[in-house]
Formats: sequence, C-alpha cells, structure tokens
Amino acid sequence: MPETLKIAVSKGRIYKEALPLLAHAGIEPLDDPESSRKLILDTSQVHVHLVIIRATDVPTYVQYGAADIGVAGKDVLMEHGGEGLYEPLDLGIARCRMMVAGPEGAAPQGGRLRVATKYLNSTRRYFAARGEQVELIKLYGSMELAPLVGLADRIVDLVDTGNTLKANGLAPLEHIADISSRLIVNKASMKMKHDLVTDLIDSIAEAVRTRSAT
Ligand code: AMP
Repeated sequence: MPETLKIAVSKGRIYKEALPLLAHAGIEPLDDPESSRKLILDTSQVHVHLVIIRATDVPTYVQYGAADIGVAGKDVLMEHGGEGLYEPLDLGIARCRMMVAGPEGAAPQGGRLRVATKYLNSTRRYFAARGEQVELIKLYGSMELAPLVGLADRIVDLVDTGNTLKANGLAPLEHIADISSRLIVNKASMKMKHDLVTDLIDSIAEAVRTRSAT
C-alpha cells in the first residue's frame, strides 16, 4: 500500500493562514472544513489527508501518531509539553503574544494574586520562574470577564491587537511569550516516512521564506 500522510489542523485562523503554505507544497483540500462536516479531507494529492480537529488536540493526535504532521500554536505546544514531537518549522502565522493582563491602572498588588487562564502550565511556570506565588483558576474561555466580576486579579491570555482587552477595561501588563503556529511532526513518522515528511517540510519552509521575502 502506498504511504499516506495525515496532517492535523484546526479550523479558523490557523487553517486560513496555513492554506497558502500547504498550497505551495501542492496540497489543496478538496472540501472546505467551514462548510463541510467531514473531519478527514481528501486533498489534491491522493496520499495526503487533512484531519480537522480542535486546536488544543493537535499535539495529542500527532504525539500518538494518529496524524503524522500537525499545525499547532506555540501556546498549545507550551501547554502540551511537546512529548513525542519534533517542531521543525516556525510557520510565522497566527502571530500574537501571551500576556498577563489586568485592570487598567491597577495598583501593584500585595499578597497572593489570583490569575485566571486556560494556560495553566505556562502560567504556573512563568510566575514560578519569578518566584511569585499565585493562585491559578482554570477557565476555558472569555478570560477577560474574570477580573470584571471579581473572579481573578489578573488573566493570562493571547493578545493580538489588544482591542479585546481594551474593550473590557483591561491592559496588557507582562509579556510571557511570542506566539506563532509551528509545524510539528510525529517522531516515528519522521523515521518511517522520512522522504515524504522531509519533502513536505522543505517545501513548506520554502513557502514561509518566499512569503517573508515579499
Ligand atoms: P485582540 O483583540 O486582537 O488582541 O485578540 C484577542 C482575542 O483573540 C483573545 O480572545 C485571544 O484569545 C484571541 N487570539 C488572538 N490571537 C490569537 C491567535 N493567534 N490564536 C488564537 N487566538 C487568538
């Protein structure tokens, strides 16, 4: 049986920005995941399939070899830990920053801060490295709400334009990390499907270079 390649990618911004890079590598999906309910999409290359999954699940699918390759945000990879994965390429798409944010003009707080986030691991590491003890509150979305209703003193979230923070009376306070999407590869696939995988990495790397040169 000819070798196949499964590429895990999430819908939305990452998918839209990854499409031109995949197209450069000759991979064009035959369905649009925004309108199709299919979770496995055929592409213009018969041996390549796109697997459409939640952004936070992409590293897990690739770690276990359910997908050979994936496109995942650095924020998600920092939470996952990167076990079983190579991260050969920064795609430079879906760029933003992971920030600590809080009420505009908030006085520095004595005592233990309550920090709401969906990025528990990154947040714990960040404050531990600064020797600050914080209480973490796990949320799954709309972090900006937490300081407004007294659930938390600070949040850790992704910031792009800063408009969402501003609209809620919050301001970015501390920079944790620059975020962009990365190509990730299952370690076994890198060995067993070496030529297929490295050809794909090379041609996507060329697309990234071409794009940043224009
Ligand atoms: P903004 O108002 O442009 O600063 O965008 C902030 C909102 O968009 C927050 O809810 C973030 O979680 C989300 N966001 C911004 N950039 C990204 C990204 N690259 N990937 C996923 N979510 C993002």
